[in-house]
Amino acid sequence: MRVGLGYDSHRLLPGRPLKLGGVEIPSPLGTVGHSDADVVLHALVDAMLGAAGLGDIGKWFPDTDPRWHGADSAILVRETLQRLAETGFRLRQADVIILAETPRLGPHKERIRQRLADLLGLPPQQVNVKAKTNEGLGAIGRGEGIACQALVALDEAEPKSSPRT
Ligand code: MG
Repeated sequence: MRVGLGYDSHRLLPGRPLKLGGVEIPSPLGTVGHSDADVVLHALVDAMLGAAGLGDIGKWFPDTDPRWHGADSAILVRETLQRLAETGFRLRQADVIILAETPRLGPHKERIRQRLADLLGLPPQQVNVKAKTNEGLGAIGRGEGIACQALVALDEAEPKSSPRT
């Protein structure tokens, strides 16, 4: 088994959509970024790439590439899963913590979990979503942005049998 850690944060501004884990959350403030600025999916992509030893999101999906401008981050997740499969890994489990002062995410956690399970191709019981405030501390605590931490576990494919010499 391999594990990987991911982190992402984006600023919040009025009048922007807020997407977390592929779910649109009603909010007067939304995240700003090159793609759809979904911190949950970005943290998960980094966690998966990390677990597989494949670098980071900036290497595969650079924000200088117009292809990712305004992109649905679900595409990044699909491409990452594809890359894992090609490298001989399979996603086993995912756990995320969303840090947001506002909006309160408690009522949305289950929907995010279901959507993540769908996107990641996992049974919902192997996906966990936690949400918390930052207790008013720092930029996240002042509601200037949203952050997410993600942890994933991968199964390694059976090692190829090598001929005995
Ligand atoms: Mg990001």
